[in-house]
Amino acid sequence: MQYDVAVVGGGTAGGSAAVFLAKAGLKTLVLDNDKGQTRRAWIENHYGFADGISGPDLVDAGQKQAKKLGADWQIGQVVAIERKDDGFVLNTDDGRSFEAKQVVLATGAAMGLAEALNLEFTDGRETRYPRVVKVDADGRTSQPGIWAAGILAGVSAHTIITAGHGAHVAVGLISELQGSRHVQHDVLK
Ligand SMILES: Cc1cc2nc3c(=O)[nH]c(=O)nc-3n(C[C@H](O)[C@H](O)[C@H](O)COP(=O)(O)OP(=O)(O)OC[C@H]3O[C@@H](n4cnc5c(N)ncnc54)[C@H](O)[C@@H]3O)c2cc1C
Repeated sequence: MQYDVAVVGGGTAGGSAAVFLAKAGLKTLVLDNDKGQTRRAWIENHYGFADGISGPDLVDAGQKQAKKLGADWQIGQVVAIERKDDGFVLNTDDGRSFEAKQVVLATGAAMGLAEALNLEFTDGRETRYPRVVKVDADGRTSQPGIWAAGILAGVSAHTIITAGHGAHVAVGLISELQGSRHVQHDVLK
């Protein structure tokens, strides 16, 4: 089966992107090796959580939400991404391979896959991340069909911002597919 989008990385950026992509009806795969930095955080500055929230609870809630909306969440370490026909093949360290038309890279501080794909890099704004993947306003990288979100794409290393950027990149991708700006609103019943 070929997924419409494979999201590599299930932290706040990748999880949030998967929520929007799956809710828009795209066949969405998330491949995550669950070693994200957010799992070490206690978060008092994420809008909407007056009593604060632990990083693990935030990441687990995002995973549950994406799955509920139809995303296929797979635990695995992606070790290679290759172009194939009109899409990509993603290989994991345990020998599995998955196919997707497009890829959203949201691997946080892990830049190895982006380097292996020869994506264009640029200077980061945070001392901890001096080099980040160069993206356009919507999250497109220098390689067609590959998008980047979160820390990897150089946004501020905060959960509300990386989650917001994941959603922003997903809206950009969905809008490109549907040929008009995508809006995802539900009305209070
Ligand atoms: C100790 C600590 C405290 C923090 N406290 C706060 C705070 O109070 N408030 C705040 O806003 N932010 C805080 N942060 C920052 C916040 O956690 C991050 O900035 C942000 O959430 C990063 O989001 P991300 O999705 O870009 O990366 P991550 O959350 O790191 O997610 C990247 C995901 O990609 C996966 N991955 C990487 N490579 C691969 C691969 N090859 N194959 C499969 N999966 C892969 C990783 O396992 C991970 O799950 C804190 C961070 C730390 C470390």
